[in-house]
Amino acid sequence: MPLTKYMIRHVHWPLMERWKGNRTRTYIRELQDAQHLTNEQLANRQADKLRNLLQHATAQIPAYQDYRSEFSEDLSQPAERLRQLPILTKKSFRETSDRYLAPDVPPATLIPNRTGGSTGEPTRFYLDRATVERYEAARWLGLSWHNIGIGDPCVMIWGNPLELNQQQSRAFRWKERFLKNRLLLSAYELRESQIPAYLRLIRSFSPTYLYGYASALHLFAELILQKKETLGIPLKAIVSTAESLQPFQRESMEKAFGAPVVNEYGARDGGIIAYECPAGRMHAFTDNYYMEIVDPITKEPVPPGKPGLLLVTDLHNYVMPRLRYELGDIVQLAAEPCTCGISYPVLDQIDGREDDMFLSRHGHYVHGHYFNHIMRNLESFYTFQIIQHAPDHVSLKLVKHPEKYDPVEEEMFLASIRKSLGDDVTIDVSYVDQIPPSASGKFRYAIREFPLSGVTR
Ligand SMILES: [Zn+2]
Repeated sequence: MPLTKYMIRHVHWPLMERWKGNRTRTYIRELQDAQHLTNEQLANRQADKLRNLLQHATAQIPAYQDYRSEFSEDLSQPAERLRQLPILTKKSFRETSDRYLAPDVPPATLIPNRTGGSTGEPTRFYLDRATVERYEAARWLGLSWHNIGIGDPCVMIWGNPLELNQQQSRAFRWKERFLKNRLLLSAYELRESQIPAYLRLIRSFSPTYLYGYASALHLFAELILQKKETLGIPLKAIVSTAESLQPFQRESMEKAFGAPVVNEYGARDGGIIAYECPAGRMHAFTDNYYMEIVDPITKEPVPPGKPGLLLVTDLHNYVMPRLRYELGDIVQLAAEPCTCGISYPVLDQIDGREDDMFLSRHGHYVHGHYFNHIMRNLESFYTFQIIQHAPDHVSLKLVKHPEKYDPVEEEMFLASIRKSLGDDVTIDVSYVDQIPPSASGKFRYAIREFPLSGVTR
């Protein structure tokens, strides 16, 4: 076993456990135990955790104390009780976040966190160490399904991690390299001229897997393929995270990197929610979460096989419980279980953000991926971004291919937008040199700017 990996597994982790009380490996074992339970056992275990959480939240958390007397009478059906609580949107959480913080928690034990604000204002929240470790544990369990373990070398294609001065930056890189066995490559510097240098770095680091944003990994793969190169070292997986992964992205990554793509579904303000198994399906870690899937407009539960808005209740975050938290993602619960033997329920479709869904003039949803699928067949453009300002008004930014641009293709694209959204939709077209990723490093093809609530279908 190479030295860094050996040191991380057999020295650093045991020391973290002893000195800092880190329990990540305990939580991995708990999640491992749960993945072999029957559906009924898993549901019972989840109900017990939910009952305890509701008891705590209604007793301690100002935002939920109004429900205290009612809930304390009977919590035999905790899921039904949970449904009596209002859905917690990011906006309402942001406006009253102080009311979700448990009193009497020593400030030193609180870990502040915030979303990148790629889709609006950043959301600030607190976690405790145990919750962070449970998220980590979920990631390690997902990786273990692909024979990747603690200390295995990883190349991460990522946005700039932090605003650091030189000394902090050296310390950060040292920690990444020797305590995490990770090499970070910036997603912001991904361009054709950098590819030979990146390939050299990766080959000499010889990672077990790559990890990064779907759009960054895809761009990297495309640039490698354009140069008629391949990575040329054996990888166990390419782990794609933070954005919904599209089939065309998966295809070019597998071609360029010569390894299977594994999808990780997580959110900064939600933790690691689901992981792709070797059979290619997404298992949700329901030992960590209670999940609900509801209609985006009526907010009524939708059955398996139907897409809806995901609400998560983190079963372990007692310092700042967010119950029925609306992450803003559209997902679908599978009607059939997976064949791989893992009991965690399957999310059939993770369709990205609710804000990526457009509303047509006829009141139908049109997912942003629709425009992506059409664009894939057109050679005229490198990339695009479409923004729906109102049901009858969109802006379209196009990055033209200098040699392959054909106005006929542009007309075809505009026609398909009108076909999906309505004939009378105004489309403002502009040509740009590039479309930068958002502040968080994520790239968004489709953005709806107005809320769905208040719109009638
Ligand atoms: Zn599976």
